[in-house]
Amino acid sequence: MAKFNGFSANQMVVVDSAYRESRRVLERAVESAGTSTWREVFKRVMGAATGSDLKEAESALEESIKAMHLRIAGASFDVTYEPTFTNTNADMLAGKFSQSGGGALHTTFIDELRQQGSAPARLPMRLGPNFFTMPERDMFGQSRIETFLHELSHHAAGTIDDSNGGECYGLKGVNRLKGLGPKRAVRNAENVGFFLVWVA
Ligand SMILES: [Zn+2]
Repeated sequence: MAKFNGFSANQMVVVDSAYRESRRVLERAVESAGTSTWREVFKRVMGAATGSDLKEAESALEESIKAMHLRIAGASFDVTYEPTFTNTNADMLAGKFSQSGGGALHTTFIDELRQQGSAPARLPMRLGPNFFTMPERDMFGQSRIETFLHELSHHAAGTIDDSNGGECYGLKGVNRLKGLGPKRAVRNAENVGFFLVWVA
């Protein structure tokens, strides 16, 4: 079972709702893979490509979504409240964020810990107070569901925060990565989060 740590009863209602809705969104996304809607949203969120480039990027995204769905269906992750967490809404091992170099380097840092076996088996997703001031859902900005899916994509599918060359968060970040093409966009956690909110 997924474990939720450190939340008040009121916060727990909010977190549980984001968790359930994320699960529904992932089920829907897995079902709709390959449909014309799925392809249209892919173009809008990940950008345009042709031939084998498009096929590779589409299957990379499908693999990520399947891995996320398995993780949430198996409920094999923890979610922990981090009251001092202010610079971002959710992340893993937030206390080591500066030490690791931040952004994509942080994800690499965590992957290395996992491979060495020195990380706890169930690294928690950490949610700060900001999580509770966000809208539950928003098509054009960050939201609780998008944030939950963004973080889950790091956990389950090894996505990164691709700040190499500019912004990687919010609609601005999504559009920047989209402009660089689907190959990079499908690896950026924020694009995966927005794709899922849009497709479901
Ligand atoms: Zn991230």
